[in-house]
Amino acid sequence: MANDASTVFDLVILGGGSGGYAAALRAAQLGLDVALIEKNKLGGTCLHNGCIPTKALLHAGEIADQARESAQFGVKATFEGIDIAGVHKYKDEVVAGLYKGLQGLVASRKVTYVAGEGRLSSPTSVDVNGQRYTGRHILLATGSVPKSLPGLAIDGDRVISSDHALVLDRVPKSAVVLGGGVIGVEFASAWKSFGTDVTIVEALPHLVPVEDENSSKLLERAFRKRGINFSLGSRFSGVEYTADGVRVSLENGKTFEAELLLVAVGRGPVSQGLGYEEAGVALDRGYVLVDEYLQTNVPTISAVGDLIPTLQLAHVGFAEGILVAERLAGLKIVPIDYDGVPRVTYCHPEVASVGITEAKAKELYGADKVVTLKYNLAGNGKSKILKTAGEIKLVQVRDGAVVGVHLVGDRMGEQVGEAQLIYNWEALPAEVAQLIHAHPTQSEALGEAHLALAGKPLHSHD
Ligand SMILES: Cc1cc2nc3c(=O)[nH]c(=O)nc-3n(C[C@H](O)[C@H](O)[C@H](O)COP(=O)(O)OP(=O)(O)OC[C@H]3O[C@@H](n4cnc5c(N)ncnc54)[C@H](O)[C@@H]3O)c2cc1C
Repeated sequence: MANDASTVFDLVILGGGSGGYAAALRAAQLGLDVALIEKNKLGGTCLHNGCIPTKALLHAGEIADQARESAQFGVKATFEGIDIAGVHKYKDEVVAGLYKGLQGLVASRKVTYVAGEGRLSSPTSVDVNGQRYTGRHILLATGSVPKSLPGLAIDGDRVISSDHALVLDRVPKSAVVLGGGVIGVEFASAWKSFGTDVTIVEALPHLVPVEDENSSKLLERAFRKRGINFSLGSRFSGVEYTADGVRVSLENGKTFEAELLLVAVGRGPVSQGLGYEEAGVALDRGYVLVDEYLQTNVPTISAVGDLIPTLQLAHVGFAEGILVAERLAGLKIVPIDYDGVPRVTYCHPEVASVGITEAKAKELYGADKVVTLKYNLAGNGKSKILKTAGEIKLVQVRDGAVVGVHLVGDRMGEQVGEAQLIYNWEALPAEVAQLIHAHPTQSEALGEAHLALAGKPLHSHD
């Protein structure tokens, strides 16, 4: 649809990342007239600077590890090194293929795609390149960018963000990764596989600190075994340049020298200077505030994705975008249960979870009402074949449903789909125990864990 003074879209979306484009696709499918405004590349962070390119790097790292470890499987292969240009070529091809597909999809749904930087000009309009796009409703989906710490300047050379790390033209000999959350441990893992000497600095007492403590401890054990160094529980105090790299200091007096410092301390919302405040949209520390239906305090404006203070995950952005589209189309919607969103950290080994941690369950239900069960992957045939260590931990409300599933081990991210059904359908252990799992698969470990929790363990001790 051409835009002129008389055109009023049903929905004008600012930002074409996971949240924005999902809303556009679903709204168009439901018959709404949609304009989607994107200043950079359709697909946003996830496709171009996040999920997809990092997972390609991690996969290249996995191949490198397999080549190094091939003798354990009786296979003669030699690891000669990383051809970083080749790794980028592979990664970029994956991204380019998906990008092309996404562009085709948006065009096929007859979404009006507007290339350019937009600014909210009123509660019902966005200005782009001197033109005004008016909508019955506006969706803000401008996402997030890497954050730093006060006084820590990211120079893109020796002190870098994940954006720089994704296009680095070499494998660093050594690196300090500031932040032991998802992004930090994923880069640490990939770099270690490529041959970098890595040290992670995390101020909190554990790596992946939002996960169940058991998962963090298992990851720490696995990283120690892989030779990934980490310092926990002490905060960063400063960085200085050395002759050939950086020296990173912590508040506890420790220092670490490396070729570069990757700052992975989180991402902040993109909301400044975009007219949000002028239009009356309530913000908190830069995040746009929304209700459970993702509507802001301005009735014609909704917001989704990394811009709002919910889980910063691509699939959360998709779900939120779909929710807004369906609400505007008049469909019956239910608010998102954010505990029911699966979370995967794709390091080696993987950490995955859905539902709540043991600590949170105890807080919610009382310590005496919470039952946990751990199933070691050592008893799982497929995990043994893969030579991966790890555990499944279940958190159950006594005599009730499973409220948390926590997985650690290679490829366990692929098991989170079943775990998600278990949590979201409020399954009882006995109901899951009744389901037959294929042998030998890693999914069997989930079945075995539930058999044990239901009081009838098969391949595990009572
Ligand atoms: C290194 C890394 C790895 C990640 N890995 C995963 C993962 O494995 N799984 C997962 O689920 N999530 C992952 N994420 C998080 C995921 O990428 C984000 O949660 C997701 O991209 C958020 O989507 P969004 O639409 O809110 O924002 P974005 O994807 O950031 O999209 C916002 C878009 O808005 C555009 N924009 C901003 N301002 C304007 C303007 N004024 N005018 C026009 N356009 C504008 C931007 O150009 C951008 O394209 C990762 C993130 C990073 C950084």
